Amino acid sequence: MCTLLTDISMVLANTSRCVQGTEEERRGWNRPGVCGLNNSGNSCYLNAVLQCLCSTVPLVEHLLNQETRKDCRVAEIFVGLLEDMWLGRSSSCAPVEAKSVLCSILPQFNNYLQQDAQELLLSLLNTLHDNLKKVRKSLSVCLQDSTIVSHLFEGQLSYRTLCMHCNYQTHSTQTFTVLSIPIPPAIIKCSLEQDCLSLFFERTVLTGGEQMLCSVCGLRRETGVLTCLEKPPEILMLHLKRFGRKGKNQVKLRTNVAFSMKLDLTPFVSSSVQSTSYSSYRLYAVVNHAGHLNMGHYTALCHNALSQTWHSFDDLVVREVQDSLVQSPNAYLLLYSRKRFQKPKIHGLGAL
Ligand SMILES: [Zn+2]
Repeated sequence: MCTLLTDISMVLANTSRCVQGTEEERRGWNRPGVCGLNNSGNSCYLNAVLQCLCSTVPLVEHLLNQETRKDCRVAEIFVGLLEDMWLGRSSSCAPVEAKSVLCSILPQFNNYLQQDAQELLLSLLNTLHDNLKKVRKSLSVCLQDSTIVSHLFEGQLSYRTLCMHCNYQTHSTQTFTVLSIPIPPAIIKCSLEQDCLSLFFERTVLTGGEQMLCSVCGLRRETGVLTCLEKPPEILMLHLKRFGRKGKNQVKLRTNVAFSMKLDLTPFVSSSVQSTSYSSYRLYAVVNHAGHLNMGHYTALCHNALSQTWHSFDDLVVREVQDSLVQSPNAYLLLYSRKRFQKPKIHGLGAL
């Protein structure tokens, strides 16, 4: 995982508790894992990301497992919030404590500005990973660096480079948590698989200032680079690069990226692992960004594994939606799972 962030123990330990809903709210639906989140001032990006994590069943199951809960003091706030969202009796929560603790450990989010949901998602997962690792090491449970976060979200890319002058080849790998996928410029509509992912994985030739140093030639040479998926992750998170630069100005690409409920990454998987690696995915959450660059609004669409239906989450406003409405021209983050989520095994859920 990436950077080590400071003490999430506070963040995750003070995570919010559900506010008592109004009588109307209490009479409203009470679907486990379907819970609106109060906006504490431009915090729609946080709410949208929290909804996605709340619908990531293997993560929720692990964190709400009795044993983990006992050990995982550091993640208490986050766990407390998940607990309210899955086991609470209110149709909404106010993640105020979650936000304040988050701001204390991740100062870049300590303001009322619109923030990038992708950066938050990555920071939140890194923080959770680092803290879970720290707790496990302090308990001497396990000296390995893997946690539920790396186990679920981490994948690996492989890069093969070729010196165009002497044909010398190199091979390297890099782990990733989120894949940032380019959107082809100057088009109104495109396909996630055929356009965006193909562009990300297409063979490129680095020229001019981008040339790489060839250790055989001892000079910078034109370099062919082939990117492949070496290890497909359990949970694949795709970030559509809508925010970019045009000259001096920051711009948002409004391209309608068509995606489907199923995604097959087999064409992009490294040939050395293709036969052993299962790379077919099912969509379970989407973060949408509507509006302008700095004045937009984030919402989420998440599949609930218990009711087997999709819901749209716009802060406190929650609606059940048809599968056909999940496709949106505002899609910004797409979360796919290799396995179809089963009914969550959470202690106390059966009693509801
Ligand atoms: Zn060379």
